[in-house]
Amino acid sequence: MTPVTTFSGKTLALFGLGGSGLATALALKEGGAHLIACDDNPAKMAEAAAKGIETGDLRQLDWSKVSALVLSPGVPLTHPEPHWSAKLAKAAGVAIIGDIELFCRERAKIAPNAPFIAITGTNGKSTTTALVAHILREAGRDVQMGGNIGTAILSLEPPSDDRIHVIECSSFQIDLAPSLAPTIGVHLNLSPDHIDRHGTMENYAAIKERLVAKASLAIIGVDDPMSQAIAEACEAKGVNVARISVEPLGVKGVFADGETLVGVAGADAAPIAHLSGIGSLRGAHNAQNAAAAVAVALALNVSPDRIRSGLGTFPGLPHRMEEVGRIGSTLFINDSKATNADSTEKALKSFDNILWILGGKAKEGGIEPLRDYFPKIRKAYLIGAAAEEFSQTLGGDVPHALSGTLDKAVEEAARDAAAMEGPAVVLLSPACASYDQFANYEVRGNQFRELVRTLPGLEARGA
Ligand code: ADP
Repeated sequence: MTPVTTFSGKTLALFGLGGSGLATALALKEGGAHLIACDDNPAKMAEAAAKGIETGDLRQLDWSKVSALVLSPGVPLTHPEPHWSAKLAKAAGVAIIGDIELFCRERAKIAPNAPFIAITGTNGKSTTTALVAHILREAGRDVQMGGNIGTAILSLEPPSDDRIHVIECSSFQIDLAPSLAPTIGVHLNLSPDHIDRHGTMENYAAIKERLVAKASLAIIGVDDPMSQAIAEACEAKGVNVARISVEPLGVKGVFADGETLVGVAGADAAPIAHLSGIGSLRGAHNAQNAAAAVAVALALNVSPDRIRSGLGTFPGLPHRMEEVGRIGSTLFINDSKATNADSTEKALKSFDNILWILGGKAKEGGIEPLRDYFPKIRKAYLIGAAAEEFSQTLGGDVPHALSGTLDKAVEEAARDAAAMEGPAVVLLSPACASYDQFANYEVRGNQFRELVRTLPGLEARGA
């Protein structure tokens, strides 16, 4: 844990006692703050109280005595409208901050030079964060990884000069962290997302820009126009910028030339690593993630040899084009995290001869945007509420079965694969939310993995 001592003896209000909220409350208490915590869910209040956290109704507080409101990133700060606790704080002129801000203030106080890598972007945050942490660990560095992935930032060990914090930041967390000034800020890409929570695309982009604007080194993906504009704006303000791209670069940074990552420094461009054969980093989207991770590692003086071995041993994250097994020449891939057509497109791009399991609770537009990839599909297996709708979209272009449930789909796809000549890929990439049949995408992906595990003749991944 990183006890937060910067509010020692002060009164703080906290709203939102989910995983990171509770961790934040404990870190504040440990650091000596007087904290009153609140949640709309009485069970969360009881859980916090059982851990020794003072809970109460923030509506009854004397806000003139409150130094700050600590808000969970899941709670609306501005849009669609501020949460009632945020309105109370604003009316009283009280600052509203989050756990990343508390970490930043603690770091500034106890170890201002501690290496702090903050990573954001619309897509690829978790993969890049995990990959950076993996490469650095493989290179023998002391690494703490967390934030929006895995462990809440204040549950990690405290910052120190020889320990590297690698932190995934969502836009909500950045919005609550005005003094965020990482050693290295990474912004991967930008596409419309969470506009309901940020009002406009411009506001969403401005929030992302804040993560890199005060970084000592800003590593910025320039493959979309708004991120390109962020790189230019940072440079104009004198920020040290390195670019990443899946197109050739003529300026400082790392780009992917197909599966080769090339580092550019001054007039020199030198290949650093190859991604071919690395199952956890398939596809152009992962080349962008890997380019970012390599740029971070180079900036931290990790040798190209160590970088290559880190990339080569990256296990990948579960549910993101995760290889779960093989039977003969058939590969089984769990891409349950793909809850919309955009994400599924990445998987369809990355494989051929696909036996595609899809469906669930459909998103607007369904799978129509994926039509260009239909020729790669040998057969589709439709599950969940979207089955009928998707069957109409696939029409006569793609052979398909109305499998209904995941177990049925896996059974049918495995049987068809066994009867096929040559290599095939059984791909769960639903392009749908999971809520109609599963608690969440993780439960769906875990069930797929288990179903595959019971198939006769399976060689588990890595076996
Ligand atoms: P995040 O943490 O930002 O949600 P993840 O690393 O968990 O990102 O990846 C989620 C999904 O986003 C992946 O399954 C893939 O479909 C897609 N994705 C990953 N990296 C990128 C990228 N660099 N650009 C576009 N899409 C990506």
